Amino acid sequence: MVEVKTSQMAMDLEDKFGAHNYHPLPVVLTKAKGVFMWDVEGKRYYDFLSAYSAVNQGHCHPKIVAALIEQAQTLELTSRAFYNDVLGVYEKFITEYFGYQRLLPMNSGAEGDETALKLTRKWGYKVKGIPENQAKIICCQNNFHGRTITVISMSNDPDARNDFGPFTPGFIPIPYNDIPALEKALEDPTVAGFLVEPIQGEAGVFVPDDGYLKKAYTLCKAKNVLFVADEVQTGIARTGKLLACDWEGVRPDILILGKALSGGVCPISAVLADDPIMLTIRPGEHGSTFGGNPIAAKVAIAALSVIRDEKLAENALAMGKIFRDEIRKINSPYIELVRGKGLLNATVIKPVKGKTAWDVCLKMRDNGLLAKPTHDHIIRFAPPLVITEEQIHESVEIIRKSIKELE
Ligand code: PLP
Repeated sequence: MVEVKTSQMAMDLEDKFGAHNYHPLPVVLTKAKGVFMWDVEGKRYYDFLSAYSAVNQGHCHPKIVAALIEQAQTLELTSRAFYNDVLGVYEKFITEYFGYQRLLPMNSGAEGDETALKLTRKWGYKVKGIPENQAKIICCQNNFHGRTITVISMSNDPDARNDFGPFTPGFIPIPYNDIPALEKALEDPTVAGFLVEPIQGEAGVFVPDDGYLKKAYTLCKAKNVLFVADEVQTGIARTGKLLACDWEGVRPDILILGKALSGGVCPISAVLADDPIMLTIRPGEHGSTFGGNPIAAKVAIAALSVIRDEKLAENALAMGKIFRDEIRKINSPYIELVRGKGLLNATVIKPVKGKTAWDVCLKMRDNGLLAKPTHDHIIRFAPPLVITEEQIHESVEIIRKSIKELE
């Protein structure tokens, strides 16, 4: 086996032997702890991406890692062909934690979304009585729900779609944060559900108007349509509440979770719903070999316990406010605006003298902070939720210094 001695060597290996489906910032990480990551040469960085909000609990959280190791040494995988003594415990724990009757466990976020789409259609036929093969699901423009064929069928991002057709039919795309457009789309009696991100993360942390989710939920209920929330990125304390929907007191009919459900140690996603929806799917109609495996079950219990025990939603709320206040104090032609909730934030970067968000991210890397542009002109700032006030101030100073160095 080849030994990686330098960052360049690791990048060359990926370049030569890996698919070119990502364009990483040039930094090669070898270890991480809490809010920090270290590169192969030993340089330390603040992590301001948290693996797209998967590492809310901080890197290598000892309680989550301990759960992983202990269960991996005891019983790793049974498949769902047999029962095991862990899954039911997890199902009870997570349903009580989020206040739903049932869990359908999956692995990736995209699989969670796929599961929710299938569940919505099934409910549309079995309960709502939509004629065979006519169910429709309303989705939002500029969404991001993952990378499978059906999921990208809802996308309007050319990079996500080009040359991947033909696409799955049955979606009605409407503009995000547009109540009249939703009202109009809901007039179609074959609509089974409305799938929405409470904040559009990948689109650039686009926060809808106050009241949007509540109004959308109420409209859906009036038309017997399921309100389906993709909280894969916004959920699990990231926005300063357990769920971003909690900001408006909305309880989704179907809730999709992923990412931080494992604290970043393995892929775990979840779809939560009540009996009338969840029990429309019968044995053999949906599943996954690894979904709900014993390791995932124990890891998710640990990851959710850490969120509650360490009051990470409260910390995200407080630290997020300080972060936005401090960033707004940076006076620079590059910073157009700052937006976000809790510790899911973004700045819109105005290109000045040919320098873009990518250049800002390179400068921040040089100064010891890692973040990644989304859509060329936006930088998302989403550190692990364990970050302290002192660390927030130090991070803002790195951001300020990096931007000033570009001016
Ligand atoms: N849904 C949302 C809102 C996301 O942000 C993401 C990933 O960024 C996904 C779904 C897809 O998750 P995964 O990459 O685990 O498939």
